[in-house]
Amino acid sequence: MSIITFDHPLAPLPVKKRIALVAHDAKKREMCDWVQKHKAIFAQHNLYATGTTGKYLETATGLPVTKCLSGPLGGDQQIGAMIVEEKIDILFFFWDPLTSQPHDPDVKALLRIAALYEIPIACNRASAEFIVTSELMGKAYARRVEK
Ligand code: PGA
Repeated sequence: MSIITFDHPLAPLPVKKRIALVAHDAKKREMCDWVQKHKAIFAQHNLYATGTTGKYLETATGLPVTKCLSGPLGGDQQIGAMIVEEKIDILFFFWDPLTSQPHDPDVKALLRIAALYEIPIACNRASAEFIVTSELMGKAYARRVEK
């Protein structure tokens, strides 16, 4: 049993989700195509992204996106901070497994925080497809965190 515990229950994920979208350069086109495919679903939620991903997504889909800084400038860390503050409910993170990144430690930190705070995470299109088509996208979801 861990001695580290949350001092308050984590809030349920709401019906209208705050969705974070991050794509490394080699994955940006794929993410834009995928969000466009599911535009009707994404239009029902609030979208957040790292800087460059957000710009691409707005251009490709016309959906409004709240943009953080670019990933290498700290955007991944900003998204991580929002997860900690319970302001992000789902993370779609299309990271590039074939290219080393200058901000690799930030990538690892973001994935750790997302796992810790029990939010759905998808790191590739197939996983993302399963999440976005889940009936839970349109429902509140009570997070359970082990003590
Ligand atoms: P970007 O950042 O959207 O600003 O390119 C993504 C990342 O590299 O983490």
